[in-house]
Amino acid sequence: MQKKRVFLTRTLHEFALKELKKKYQIEIHTGKIPIPRNVLERKIKNIDGLICFPYDKIDSELMDLGSNLKVISTYSVGFDHIDINHAKKKKIRVGFTPKVLTDATADLAFALMIDVVRRVSEGDRIIRSGKWRQIYGAYDYIGMDLQGKTLGILGFGRIGSTLARRAKAFDMKIIYHNRNRISKNKEKTLGVKYVSQNKLITQSDIISIHVPHTSETDQMFNKEIFKKMKDSAFLINTARGKIVNEKDLSLALEKKIISGAGLDVFEFEPISKNHPFMKIPNIVLAPHIGSSSKETREEMAKITVKNLNLGINRKKPIYSVGF
Ligand code: NAP
Repeated sequence: MQKKRVFLTRTLHEFALKELKKKYQIEIHTGKIPIPRNVLERKIKNIDGLICFPYDKIDSELMDLGSNLKVISTYSVGFDHIDINHAKKKKIRVGFTPKVLTDATADLAFALMIDVVRRVSEGDRIIRSGKWRQIYGAYDYIGMDLQGKTLGILGFGRIGSTLARRAKAFDMKIIYHNRNRISKNKEKTLGVKYVSQNKLITQSDIISIHVPHTSETDQMFNKEIFKKMKDSAFLINTARGKIVNEKDLSLALEKKIISGAGLDVFEFEPISKNHPFMKIPNIVLAPHIGSSSKETREEMAKITVKNLNLGINRKKPIYSVGF
């Protein structure tokens, strides 16, 4: 019997490829990243399974070309790049990788938070550019303490609630907002308080975004929201770039409407060297590395392969979206 065909829009770990090769006829895209649309359109026509990444747009038109396609397994927890409703309609399984990347991403959110409030990367940039003149003065390179400050977590799911546990150890006060409140018991155990979205915006010293990118959250952080935030407040985003209006954020930082930002995700990645963020000192930029630890990325690869194995046989992936 002919082996089923699997296409990867980018390579994965050797151990994952080895397992895939045992069962399937696999092809890996090795050219430009993200894979050009016309190449993916060509490839999807003849495959049973697709392994993709969060920057690969898998929309309805593309799925319609995949007449044999049974599963889309994304190497990410975010699935805003896949038309889930259409996949469901076409009975194409969609697998994703939650849980295994929760700790790593919460760590990165925390790292960005400490970095920006204590101006670590800014100091690094000053030293490397040979501009370190003032030393140890009363007003030099002054940052903000974390202890006693209010951290507002927008999106209190896996990553948001894990960040809360880290922040608790730093003696921060934690407020959160979700569309659905978590149980009072869980709130008590975690020591967190549920507030409206408006209260979270106006009362937080630091806001960390952990909602998915949806039509509801698209461009949620814009000039109106920045005006409502404290002028001493910081914004952290490790969720998705499109949740923040980047032009409005640049202006808010330049005009000191808010104090600083730490970002791991951007509207279009990678950002160009002419992006307005490049010239703003009170912003820390990370190249979408939320889940980027050796251990986490390996776990993600294992789940991506497991999800594919199940979906290609018309079974429900271990972590499945849609159906
Ligand atoms: P999750 O467990 O599904 O949590 C998302 C939370 O957001 C839920 O608690 C949900 O609660 C809340 N939410 C959804 N829509 C909302 C809205 N309109 N207003 C307020 N709250 C809303 O997801 P997760 O695993 O924590 O991941 C969160 C996101 O992080 C992912 O979607 C992904 O895009 C991003 N991510 C990025 C990286 C990276 O590399 N930077 C790594 C991992 C994840 P309700 O349904 O009750 O509202």
